[in-house]
Amino acid sequence: MAKPCYQCGSCTGGCPIAKRNPEFNPRRIVHRFLLKREDKIPSSSIWFCLLCHSCVERCPQEVKPSHVIVALRNKATQEGDVKEYMRDELEQICLTGWSIPLMPAISKRREALGLPAAPSANVEEVRIIIGLMGLDKLLNERRERRIQG
Ligand code: SF4
Ligand code: SF4
Repeated sequence: MAKPCYQCGSCTGGCPIAKRNPEFNPRRIVHRFLLKREDKIPSSSIWFCLLCHSCVERCPQEVKPSHVIVALRNKATQEGDVKEYMRDELEQICLTGWSIPLMPAISKRREALGLPAAPSANVEEVRIIIGLMGLDKLLNERRERRIQG
């Protein structure tokens, strides 16, 4: 972080999630993070962020609240505290290299906008990266849970 956060609230004021969900407040998350009171940040709240980075653009202090949230997500992930839908997304990436299914509607929209067809991903390479990051553990845990019923 370039300069200290002075709790002006510009990040929260421009956050599309905070506008709809009063439980989510990037200013408060930054405050607790800086005070090393991460235990006071509800683990569910860090997964609400869209990573639109509007907070980064608005912050007069170059604090980068969304980067703080990513750091908290990385820590939560290492501790196995991951939402099920994130595991779904990871599985999707493992299978196709894309975080969302490439539905026919997407191809049609790309065509209408004059965009080329979406390039195919190198799935093998993606899987190697996922393994090197230790994220395959999250999928294995889920597979084991499914087997155990
Ligand atoms: S992170 Fe930036 S925008 Fe948010 S409260 Fe702190 S100084 Fe203000
Ligand atoms: S990156 Fe996250 S915290 Fe920042 S404005 Fe977007 S949704 Fe809000």
